[in-house]
Amino acid sequence: MYKIETTKLMKKIMGDYFLGMKDIGKKIAWCTSVGPAELLRSFGFEVHFPENHGALLGATRTAGDFIPEAAKLGYSSNICSYLTADVGSYLKKQTPLSEHYGLNGPPKPDLIVYNTNQCREVQDWLTYFAREFNCPVVGITPPRYINEITKDEIDDVATQFKAMIPICEQTSGNKFEIDNFREVIRLSKEATDLWKEVLWTASSTPSPISFFDATIHMGPIVVLRGTQIAKDYYTTLLEELTGNVDKGIGFLEKEKCRIYWEGMPIWGKLRSLSDLFLQNDAAVVASTYCNSWVFDAFDEKDPFESSAKAYTEIFINRSEKAKEKILAGLIKDFRIDGVIFHEAKTCFNNSNASFGMPARLKEKTGVETLIIEGDLCDLRFFSEEQSIIKIETLIEQISS
Ligand code: SF4
Repeated sequence: MYKIETTKLMKKIMGDYFLGMKDIGKKIAWCTSVGPAELLRSFGFEVHFPENHGALLGATRTAGDFIPEAAKLGYSSNICSYLTADVGSYLKKQTPLSEHYGLNGPPKPDLIVYNTNQCREVQDWLTYFAREFNCPVVGITPPRYINEITKDEIDDVATQFKAMIPICEQTSGNKFEIDNFREVIRLSKEATDLWKEVLWTASSTPSPISFFDATIHMGPIVVLRGTQIAKDYYTTLLEELTGNVDKGIGFLEKEKCRIYWEGMPIWGKLRSLSDLFLQNDAAVVASTYCNSWVFDAFDEKDPFESSAKAYTEIFINRSEKAKEKILAGLIKDFRIDGVIFHEAKTCFNNSNASFGMPARLKEKTGVETLIIEGDLCDLRFFSEEQSIIKIETLIEQISS
């Protein structure tokens, strides 16, 4: 059975990352997953990402125990299930971090920072915790749904980044050093370039990494970008995957078709969905989600402007027209036969099927599209049987 050997290293790195937060002497910042993590690291903060915890609650299928707790506080179960699961976990004082790493919960924040480049939900979510922990909260609020980013937009966001400096200095106890920031941006850029190369190995046939593998291997680029650890990790992973490409080894010996996954993962069903596609010889080789941590724009020579550009031009923050263009390019690069749009019930921000995009994309590229309904964490919204039938029908249709 095909196995990515570097997975063992990834588990060790992620374990060390979580255990590193146990050190109470360190200053901790909470940050959204596509937020200004590099600036925070340049001040010496350890960075915790609440969305990463939300994904863990989804993947361990514990989210369902916690979402009702948040509902008691008035958080609707129709809003972001990362938010409701994370808030519920905090209220119930339970987390899978205890079982896996012996932690009582996520580390206590000294500073909380969000970026609404992905959604407004993160603002409500992180502000809740700022109230709970009585700590400062700062937000970056970039322009939304951009077509092509303009210089004025970059300048606006860069100014917001710079405005964070005094609160970072105050809460970290360290002065801002431009050279530290440049160095973190350099490391982030190198890691994100490697991550992109990792993902792009899947353009080979047979592909050495599936979308489902990539959702696991993306851990370090989400939580450790800006560190040497992340850079070294992706160097090792890339070496293994390119070696497999050279040897003609992939996760499927014979690919009947190649699929693109659009939208959020269904964290609690990763294993069963991965098995479903493998059993049908369908290779899910690319996704919008894993590509979200590819930041081409980072440039240490221009740390503020390049961060502003990198974090504002992300896919989720683009116009329908820009998204269609990006998807059409990926369909071509990865030689995709079919696109599955996952409409996540509690995240319309990362669901792109509601305004006719599947039909337009099919018309533009000639590739079949399918919409399945589900959710990132709340499995009550996922009808497994119905989805299996739809997926198998799509595979049959495109393979014939
Ligand atoms: S983008 Fe979606 S899943 Fe992510 S935090 Fe916002 S609402 Fe939640």
